[in-house]
Amino acid sequence: MKILVANLGSTSFKFRLFEMEEGGECLLAEGGYERVTDYGEVIRDALEGLEREGVAAQEDIAAVGFKTVLGRNLSGCVEAGDEVLAALEGFSDVAPAHNPAYAAGIRQFRKILPGARRVALFETAFYQWVPEAGTRYAVPRAWHEAGIRRYGFHGASHKYIAERSAELLAREDVATEVRGLYQNGPGRVERPLRVISCHLGGSSSVTGIRNGVAVGTSMGFSPQSGLPQNNRVGDLDSGAIPHAARTLGLSMTEAERQLTAESGLLGVSGVGNDMRDVRAAALEGNEDAQLAVDVFVHEIRRWASSFLFDLGGLEGLVFTAGIGENNPWLREEVCAGLEEFGIILDPVRNEGVRGEEGEISGVGAKVKIYVVPANEELVLAREVYRKVSSLN
Ligand code: AMP
Repeated sequence: MKILVANLGSTSFKFRLFEMEEGGECLLAEGGYERVTDYGEVIRDALEGLEREGVAAQEDIAAVGFKTVLGRNLSGCVEAGDEVLAALEGFSDVAPAHNPAYAAGIRQFRKILPGARRVALFETAFYQWVPEAGTRYAVPRAWHEAGIRRYGFHGASHKYIAERSAELLAREDVATEVRGLYQNGPGRVERPLRVISCHLGGSSSVTGIRNGVAVGTSMGFSPQSGLPQNNRVGDLDSGAIPHAARTLGLSMTEAERQLTAESGLLGVSGVGNDMRDVRAAALEGNEDAQLAVDVFVHEIRRWASSFLFDLGGLEGLVFTAGIGENNPWLREEVCAGLEEFGIILDPVRNEGVRGEEGEISGVGAKVKIYVVPANEELVLAREVYRKVSSLN
């Protein structure tokens, strides 16, 4: 079954085409467009290209998968029809870079490839089973009823880590649970497996996972929360916004823009939003850049330690995404001084693993520490395949 995974940004369209079958998959093609103004035009161009190159005729594409971010009153892995469009549009203001783009993309695919099924996998889906105490903000009831609660994001990435870490830790029972999670729900695993997944990239989050199911994550209501992001603020006291607006004379729109575009690693370092640039400046003695690195590490440790309590122990700690995969120095700082918890890095292994999968824990470690490259598109293709198979 040929499945196209569509990744839509506010001005970009990327795709991957997979051949999926029971027990396996193969990437057939990938491509993308930047500075997109008309999604219909680039989608048609991509499909014609695939046909011209003999990769896939348009009628052979069985389904298109969308990594949708946040839906109002909707999550999970669902057919992308009018309900999904309404859910995306209901929260366009919370995910302005993504929700309108996905709504537009879904509409275009409906028009251009009417014979293909369309499936949305929400980034919030992996957090469906987080206990209510972990999703509820202590806001007035009316706010809660307006949808203000913790949702969590990067669900596809952390779900991949849940499955892959279970395989690496030789827990096929947990890996099986993760594979069928969206079809069957959780609850079939008895012996505990506790993992903390650190997705550290342009956008970052830390998730606690018990027996393949998320118990909580650092991101809350919007992708603006949790760890400091490249340009986005991360966690911020709700009292700070009205105070800053009053004292700095900012409108709500301008305050929001600054917290989205001029904060995070960029805001603290003043150097840039890419960890490579920030770290290079820190090594050259730029104190603001060093502080940005320190804040980032501090927040990773703060969130990871909260899940250590929540989980009551730990078997696996995983680093994934661009920063987590490529920076041994950062992994060393995150794990420093945790020997008493059984978290011990092997310095040589750690130094050797960059951008590839590998174990980096050392002698005497009770917790296995891994680097696992992020693979969100594959999760999407697999979930869409499962969904479409269950519909056919
Ligand atoms: P992502 O959002 O997962 O693509 O991650 C982007 C971040 O990963 C950027 O901030 C980079 O600093 C970091 N990154 C990507 N590649 C490398 C690399 N080869 N070495 C160090 N950092 C990297």
